[in-house]
Amino acid sequence: MERDERVCLLCHRCGAELTPGEGNFYIVRILAVADPTPPAISEADLQTDISAEIDRILNQVQDMSEQELTEQIFRRLTIHLCTPCYRQWIENPAG
Ligand SMILES: [Zn+2]
Repeated sequence: MERDERVCLLCHRCGAELTPGEGNFYIVRILAVADPTPPAISEADLQTDISAEIDRILNQVQDMSEQELTEQIFRRLTIHLCTPCYRQWIENPAG
């Protein structure tokens, strides 16, 4: 395969050109998921008007798209990093 026919990617951090097959980059897949723990419900919560709370939440989400709602629950990202950027990032991914 000629080099020109290969897919050229760019490093997500520094913009360096990455060429598949040359072993000069990493694919990083990120899955971010909202806290799945059910909320703690107190006695006081049980005394409140549940239907009013449901109405409040429905009003809050009615103008949001399906994509916006899904993104509140989880996001899945794939990024490409050149080897030097990957080595820096993997040591401190939350930095
Ligand atoms: Zn880079």
